[in-house]
This record gives sequence, C-alpha cells and structure tokens, in this order.
Amino acid sequence: MKFSTEAIHAGQTPDKTTGAVTTPIFMTSTYVQEELGVNKGYHYGRTENLTRESLEKNIATLEKGKYGISFSSGVAAIHSLMSLVKSGENVIVPESVYGGTFRLFQDFVSNYGVEFKWIDMSDLSLVEKSIDVNTKLIYMETPSNPLLKLTDIKSITDLAKSRNILTAVDNTFMTPYFQRPIELGADIVIHSTSKYLNGHSDIIGGIVVTNNEEANSKIRFLQKALGAIPSPFDSWITLRSTKTLVVRMKQHESNANVLANYLKDKDYLKRVIYPGLPNHPDHELAKKQMSGFGAVITIEFHEFEVAKRFLKNIKIFHLAESLGGVESLVNHSATMTHASVPKEIRAKMGITEGLVRISVGIEDVDDLIEDIEQAINNK
Ligand SMILES: *Cc1c(COP(=O)(O)O)cnc(C)c1O
Repeated sequence: MKFSTEAIHAGQTPDKTTGAVTTPIFMTSTYVQEELGVNKGYHYGRTENLTRESLEKNIATLEKGKYGISFSSGVAAIHSLMSLVKSGENVIVPESVYGGTFRLFQDFVSNYGVEFKWIDMSDLSLVEKSIDVNTKLIYMETPSNPLLKLTDIKSITDLAKSRNILTAVDNTFMTPYFQRPIELGADIVIHSTSKYLNGHSDIIGGIVVTNNEEANSKIRFLQKALGAIPSPFDSWITLRSTKTLVVRMKQHESNANVLANYLKDKDYLKRVIYPGLPNHPDHELAKKQMSGFGAVITIEFHEFEVAKRFLKNIKIFHLAESLGGVESLVNHSATMTHASVPKEIRAKMGITEGLVRISVGIEDVDDLIEDIEQAINNK
C-alpha cells in the first residue's frame, strides 16, 4: 500500500465488539483472566494496551520498520536507546543535536560510564576517525536544529555497518513522509511525536522504530521496566493525527517554500537557512535523501534589537518553544531552546543572538507574509 493509505489504515481494524471504525481509547489498568493461565494476551496496562499498540504499528509501518515502541516523551524514547550501550562503551553524537538530547546524554547518561563523542557529523572523515573498538552507536539528527545542517544518512550507515556499529536517527523534523532513515540503512529511528506526527501542539510523546530484533527486545523491555508509556488518550490522539500527516506536511512545506523565497532577499536579514533553497550548502544531499524539505526555516537578523522587535510585534506567529504544529511559531534559539547549551558552545555552533527559528504552520501563507511585514515595519 502507498504511504497516504497506510497513514490512515495501518495498525487499525474496526473494533471486534461494536464495529466502531475508529480504534477505541482503552482506558483500563488491568484485564480479566478467564482462569489461571488463560487470558487474551493482555495482563496489565503498563505492558499491554490496544490503543497504544495500534499507534506503534501505525508509525512503524510508515517508517518501514517492524517494531514500534512508544514513550511518554521524545526524550524518554531517546533515553531508551541507552539500553543498547554499556558502561565503557561510547556513542558518536552530532554537536548540533537537540538541546534536550545534549542535556540527557552529557549531564545524565555520561554519569553511568558511557562516553559521548561530540563531533561535526557533516564531516565523514571525522566520523570515521572518531570510531574506536568501544564505539557502539552512531546517533544522527538531520536536519539539525536550529541551523538545518544535513547529515548524509546513507554514507554513515554504510560506514557503521562495515564496523558493526548501530545507527540511530532522530527523524522528528522530517517525519517518515519526507525521510525514511531505515530505507537508508539506519537500525533505529526515533521521534518526538510532540511535533509533526501529532501535529497539533496538544500532547508530548515519543516513539522508537526498528527492524533490529535485539534492539526491539531491549527497548521493549525498558518500556515495561521504566514505565515511561504514553496514556491511552495520548496514543489515540496521535493515532488520529497521523491520518492527516500527508495533507498537513504538504501544506506545511508549500507554505515554507513560499516564505523562504519571500524572505531570502530581505536586507534586514543576514541569511535565510532552508534546505529547499538552492543556496543551502546541503541542497543536493537534501534532494537525494529527502522527498521534501520540511517546514522549519531559520533566519538571522543583523542585529539582536531588530530580532527582538520582530518577536515582540509578530501576531499570528506565536513566540513559543516547539515546532511542527498546525500553527506557526517563532523561537529565539539562544535564549529559549538552546539556553541550556553553554554560551561558548552556542557560539561555536553558530547560534547567534540574531537567530530566529520559524516553524511554518498551515495557515494561509498570505496572512503569514502580511504578519511578518507588519512586525518588521512597526517600530
Ligand atoms: C522536541 C524534540 C525532542 C524531544 O522531544 P520531547 O517530546 O519534547 O521530549 C527530540 N528531538 C527533536 C529533534 C525535537 O525537536
């Protein structure tokens, strides 16, 4: 079946009792057992829940994976990958990773004897040089946040396979509609479903997808053992949202494309970063490994004062953290999403005070342009 059809149907069959077309929200903590040792395979809500299982099958199918293991947040999903790594082993990670991932790995997991090697992952030879006998996992995130640098997934998974190293990709920015890392050789895909997959800025969630049996059993075990599961309601609303993933992503991208082209020559901006613009340094790679360019645009104002005024005046765009919802958001990386990254590292990463990340929503793009114009012109 094709992607749009799977988005609507995968993991779901009409309810056996009533014929309800929509998968019910199974609000139950436990299940009746007919007699000792006889049950329907459902024992306890932390380990089995049909609404959650439907969501897991649905997203796994879209990512071309066999197994989906969902969590109560994106960072909980990312943390579950650490069950694949032991003390004394190391993980290679891009230095431009999501701020919460940096905090999780560096300020928490590293206390357990796992080493993290922070590198510029766009440099393949640096990836190769960083590998040693204790390297267990290469973790990717592409495009990166907020500078939208790309990592060549296929080249890195080829290299990792030749060295028997696992690979994982945070695919939150692209969704499986635009990028499918498993098809490019990755062992594991992770998502913050709080972003495009749920798409309406109303829940926090995460998921891991894999074809690797061993990774699946270790991560599935951790889902039960740690218990960071999404609620039946959160699972259900995410499952409802993936049905419209295709129409939303098309509109998000179409609006982003119009906006990026509108902004690209404005003299109040130092630069406009969008993988869909031909001047983006990774535009060719983007065309190769993605089927669309997503809807995050990063702009850099010459002066912080202008950025500040813009963020104060803007009306339809909300000044808020997060991305990937139907409503457009603007975010000041240096003081918001990346505030936990030390200032020197931020500077090294290129996250200046003039940088603003835009998550383009699915409103009418003419209204978005008008809002930007008034925000710039209102002194
Ligand atoms: C938001 C985000 C996360 C963390 O997900 P939560 O659901 O907020 O825990 C991880 N990676 C990326 C790329 C994100 O944007």
